[in-house]
Amino acid sequence: IFFIYIGLLTLIYVKLLFSIYIIIIIILINRIFSGQAHSSVERAGLFGGVKFRLLPVDEKCKLRGDVLAKAIQEDKEKGLIPFYVVATLGTTVSCAFDRLDEMGVVANREDVWLHVDAAYAGSAFICPEYRYLMKGIELADSYNFNPHKWMLVNFDCSAMWLKDPTYVINAFNVDPLYLKYDTQGSAPDYR
Ligand SMILES: *Cc1c(COP(=O)(O)O)cnc(C)c1O
Repeated sequence: IFFIYIGLLTLIYVKLLFSIYIIIIIILINRIFSGQAHSSVERAGLFGGVKFRLLPVDEKCKLRGDVLAKAIQEDKEKGLIPFYVVATLGTTVSCAFDRLDEMGVVANREDVWLHVDAAYAGSAFICPEYRYLMKGIELADSYNFNPHKWMLVNFDCSAMWLKDPTYVINAFNVDPLYLKYDTQGSAPDYR
């Protein structure tokens, strides 16, 4: 019994140490990177061959409109052309929700495409009681959530909504004879 007792105490102690360690690492990571965006956003920037910035968040890990406005202003003064901003609704590390309502006003005013990354927590908006977290969604140009996360879809499945799909359809448009079909035009075709 004594040994079991010691064993349990050690286990609890190690567990405590471990969780403190993890918390410290998370705090350090937050300090260093400040932005909470998913790594795929960063990768998209690399793929696209464009400059990107991770912006600092407030004490609740939310990105605010004034921070975005300031960053856009600074970039324009450097001669850059800000064209795309990603708001995260439900960040992967802390499930924080950016202030989409504030960011949307700034993005619309500056004529910058506003994408909403709700890959992680977007499925929650199926429930009306969580929809207050997507306040400002009408200001977004595109929205994505991942049914393969909370909706038990077993293969990778990202559902993407576009306010105006013609941009994407036209960007990838090829129209060879052998890809024609009878029902063409009855639904958006992103081929
Ligand atoms: C999981 C996740 C992604 C990436 O999703 P995949 O489609 O699995 O690559 C992007 N953003 C957030 C917030 C995520 O949680």
